[in-house]
Amino acid sequence: MARRTPTTQASLFGGDTPKVKRVTKKPSKPSTFREAFASRSAYAPRTTNSANRGEKRVWFSATAMESMNRCPRCFWIEKHEGIRQPEGIVSRLANRFDGVIKQYFDLYRASGELPPMVAGQLEGSLQYPFQEKYWYRVPGHDNRYGFYGKLDECLVSKDGKYTPVDHKTASSDPKTRDLIPAYQFQLDSYAFLLEKNAHPTTGIGHLIYFFPGHGEKLHEGFPMEITIKTLNTDPGRVMPRLEAAIKLLEGPLPQPGKECPFCAYVDRVKKF
Ligand code: SF4
Repeated sequence: MARRTPTTQASLFGGDTPKVKRVTKKPSKPSTFREAFASRSAYAPRTTNSANRGEKRVWFSATAMESMNRCPRCFWIEKHEGIRQPEGIVSRLANRFDGVIKQYFDLYRASGELPPMVAGQLEGSLQYPFQEKYWYRVPGHDNRYGFYGKLDECLVSKDGKYTPVDHKTASSDPKTRDLIPAYQFQLDSYAFLLEKNAHPTTGIGHLIYFFPGHGEKLHEGFPMEITIKTLNTDPGRVMPRLEAAIKLLEGPLPQPGKECPFCAYVDRVKKF
């Protein structure tokens, strides 16, 4: 029996088999976050490493939400493409400071006593054992979003309520400075996360400022002035901002923020 050979147009009509140019359709870049997520393309959302715990979810933090306020465009680009603004040269002194303060607080944690630095100025005892990180999965939106936060410290009152605490290193006297609005949202966020994780809150949060004072005997130790500011917390402020962040992320690329001059600068120099 004759063997059947595959037929092509060229063998039917004679002549060489033409070279067939393979046309592959280049996937077009999705214009919205929803499209990107649905197509699971290279433009699919990135998860935040510190919080994703293996889950496919976009995680927000209070800091990310503040960056959204400063410039929605940079926020959008970071969450869609994983491209962050270059950090530049920054001092890590505050990080070192935070670490030293946390270790100092840890020394008193098991005793039920407050560290002498703040004793008599705060109510409650240090949470023991201390839970630093909290997560919350935003309902709806196909379970694609979450919110997380990392507390510096937490106090527990006698009636079992929780007060978030954040340490701040100040370069100018905090007693003479207005409160930075981002700090209010930070404490609101911590209260929100505590509440969502079955830790009822006292309705307040503390900012403990550490400010290097003047001293004539620096060789005997660096004087640190401690100022505590207590704010009322409102966890109800968090959800509307989360929803606003999601809406922004699911829409088209926003315009640059007005406060940052860099996009305008890039526009002006790119012709050279
Ligand atoms: S203006 Fe441009 S560079 Fe500046 S934060 Fe916004 S997107 Fe980023």
